[in-house]
Amino acid sequence: MERRRESLAGSGVAHGIAIGRAHLLAPSELEVRQYTIERRDVLHEIGRLTSAFSVVHEELEELKSHIAPNAPSEVRAFLDLHRLILGDSLLAEAPRDLIRSRLINAEWALTIQLELLVKQFDAIDDEYLRGRSTDVRQVVERVVNALAGGRPTRVAITRKLAVGDRLILIAQDLAPADVLHLKDRADVDLAGFVTELGGPTSHTAILARSLGLPAVVGAEGARRVIEEGDLVVIDADSDAVIVNPSEDELTDFRQRMRDEGEHRVQLRKLRGRIARTSDGIAIELQANIELPEDARDALVAGADGIGLFRSEFLFMDRDELPTENEQYEAYAKVARAMKGKPVVIRTLDIGADKVLNETARESLGMGRGAPRPESNPALGLRAIRYCLAYPELFLTQLRAILRASEVGTVRILVPMLAHVHEVEQALAFVAQAKQQLRERKQKFDGRVQIGGMVEVPAAALSVPQLIKRLKFMSIGTNDLIQYTLAIDRADSSVAHLYDHLHPAVLGLISRTLKDCIKGKVPVSICGELAGELEMTELLLGMGLRQYSMHPAQILPIKERLFDLSTKDAARLSSRVLREADPIRIKAALVRAAKASAAQ
Ligand code: PEP
Ligand code: MG
Repeated sequence: MERRRESLAGSGVAHGIAIGRAHLLAPSELEVRQYTIERRDVLHEIGRLTSAFSVVHEELEELKSHIAPNAPSEVRAFLDLHRLILGDSLLAEAPRDLIRSRLINAEWALTIQLELLVKQFDAIDDEYLRGRSTDVRQVVERVVNALAGGRPTRVAITRKLAVGDRLILIAQDLAPADVLHLKDRADVDLAGFVTELGGPTSHTAILARSLGLPAVVGAEGARRVIEEGDLVVIDADSDAVIVNPSEDELTDFRQRMRDEGEHRVQLRKLRGRIARTSDGIAIELQANIELPEDARDALVAGADGIGLFRSEFLFMDRDELPTENEQYEAYAKVARAMKGKPVVIRTLDIGADKVLNETARESLGMGRGAPRPESNPALGLRAIRYCLAYPELFLTQLRAILRASEVGTVRILVPMLAHVHEVEQALAFVAQAKQQLRERKQKFDGRVQIGGMVEVPAAALSVPQLIKRLKFMSIGTNDLIQYTLAIDRADSSVAHLYDHLHPAVLGLISRTLKDCIKGKVPVSICGELAGELEMTELLLGMGLRQYSMHPAQILPIKERLFDLSTKDAARLSSRVLREADPIRIKAALVRAAKASAAQ
């Protein structure tokens, strides 16, 4: 039967259209960890698998010894069958070979083998035998549980994909770590994802943008409306998901994808040009990155530097914290790649929706850390607060960043400042880290600049005090909006109230820019607003001359800047800042965009 056309609304993330087949992520599928391993860890991984098999074997034996004499005979038969399955070489041996040949972890190898066996069972004519695939699955689940030992969960894609099938993941929610993990999957051609929860500036959404993955978050009812294998179109620019579109719609979407491709070719021609307004004012366009490898995208987009390296992504999704050397390598890699262009490394912004694995957290010891679970993590121990609570963690990172300053123009950016004393403490830690390096006779650039982020209203209102001790400032509008409007940026139920055009938000941004310009301290915006075409002129008019954004946005923003004049922009900004109604502000921005496009 032909499936009905449906559509869903949410918040679009990243730009463009994605077309693919739906894969619904059941909550239980989140319970399998999948990662690649080093060759030297193969024996260890096989050892893990072997002991997990023995644990399950013992468990089944034990269960059997507890069977009540009057229990139905099926119970014993069922346990025997499971022991048989467990001992079958197809399940016991094949995953070991997979670990050796594909260098993957035991859980992953097991699930690959499981899917193979299930497929074979599915092909059997006999209904009873076909049903046995459930038993195989149950046995595998037991082994996976034994392997997990209560460890955190990860995304597993167990669906068999047809060759050439692009996948659209439909989930209730995806954590940033899940998206990170999917990024590394060579066997999955992920076209995009739809989640029922989450807001457009949640860290999951930001990561999606950095992967260039069109997505719609906060699409209520997605898992009810969409069925496994449905044809799904994500239209991120229209905040829409279309399920089983008509042929005509599909033709239109494909045409739009082609048009976007052609526009991208045009944009590439702007790569080598300096961004300038029509009245000749040069603008710096820098890139936000999450991982060292992303520096490549920044270079491809012709970025004037890295305006924000979200270093916390080096710390997430792993059980051991990165050592000083590992961090040094990561920071130095970016600094080298950028060949003298500035690289702003933000110190660890862990907390809220970006959490360390439990084992990693435990390895930090007691510190002054908050007990888990925190009642309100976005307002809790996050970012600079976290670093000040765990001095060794902070010092290790600072030493690594300072050492990397030897190979490029590295700057340090401190997130989530609210108090002047946090700046004082952060600077004292930098001084201590430098002293430690001097004692070790390790080199660093003594002039490394330290800057601060304006993400909390208190910081926006204290710029004159903050810049007495800091060399540059960067406005994190994602959090500034969250904390000004008291909206959890990851909570879809209040996403409609997360309004970047709220006069209070615009007022704080404008005031911060003005105070920095007056104090002659360089200031940039590194929140998502910097990459929004709709905001380019307004921010220019407020005095912004340094934008930092996802690499994919650099060329479109550059193209827009060529058409804008600072004088018109200043007029627009003073008009908007006098306006109290976000709807009228929006209308003024749309009018201004049309006027500049018509020129
Ligand atoms: C911000 O808050 O705007 C920002 C750039 O930091 P993050 O999005 O990583 O919290
Ligand atoms: Mg932030």
